[in-house]
Amino acid sequence: MSLTAGVVAVQGDVSEHADAVRRAGAARGEAVTVREIREAGVVPDCDVLAMPGGESTTISRLVREEGIADEIRAHVAAGKPLLATCAGLIVASRDAGDERVDPLGLVDVTVRRNAFGRQRDSFEASIEVDGLDEPFPAVFIRAPVVESVGDASVLATVDGRPVAVRDGPVVGTSFHPELTADPRLHDLALFGDGAGE
Ligand code: GLN
Repeated sequence: MSLTAGVVAVQGDVSEHADAVRRAGAARGEAVTVREIREAGVVPDCDVLAMPGGESTTISRLVREEGIADEIRAHVAAGKPLLATCAGLIVASRDAGDERVDPLGLVDVTVRRNAFGRQRDSFEASIEVDGLDEPFPAVFIRAPVVESVGDASVLATVDGRPVAVRDGPVVGTSFHPELTADPRLHDLALFGDGAGE
C-alpha cells in the first residue's frame, strides 16, 4: 500500500516532519509519499497530515491566506489523521489564548503559548504516552501549556499538565516528536490502529 502524507509547509520545521513521517512509514514497511503543502489543492490528495512546530501566529495567518485552513478542516471532518506539534497544536486548538492566532478548532483544548516558564523554555523529558509501550523522548521548545481539555483525551502529562492529547483523528503534542529519531509518535498518530476514525 502507498500512502500520501502531507506536511503543512508554510513555516516551521517541515523537513524534520517529512523525515519523521518517512521513518514511521518505513518502520511499518509502507511506502510513503510526502507532499509539502504551501498552497490550496494538495490537502485533498493526502491520506494523513502533519502540522509542524514553528511560529503559531505565522502558521495560523498563512494557512488562512493560502486557503489551506478549510482543507485541513475538511480532512479532519472526513476522519483522516492529523498530527499537530507545538505551534501546530496551538493552531489546531479550540482556543489559543492569543488574538494573533485564529485557531482551527480541531482539538478541544485551550492552550497558552510559551507557558512552561523561563527556566523551562527548552527541555527534554522521557514521558509515558498512552499507546506506547516504552517512554518517549520528548523535546520541548517554548512549548504551549494545555490549560483545559474538553472533549479530548489526554495521552501524556508532564508535571501533571497535559502535553499530548487526542481528539478523534487528531493528535496534538506540546513537544516535538519530529526532532528525535524515534518514529513511534508519528506512527501512533498517523498510521496506528487508533489513527483516524
Ligand atoms: N512558541 C511558539 C509559538 O507560540 C511555538 C514553539 C514551537 O513550535 N517550537 O508559536
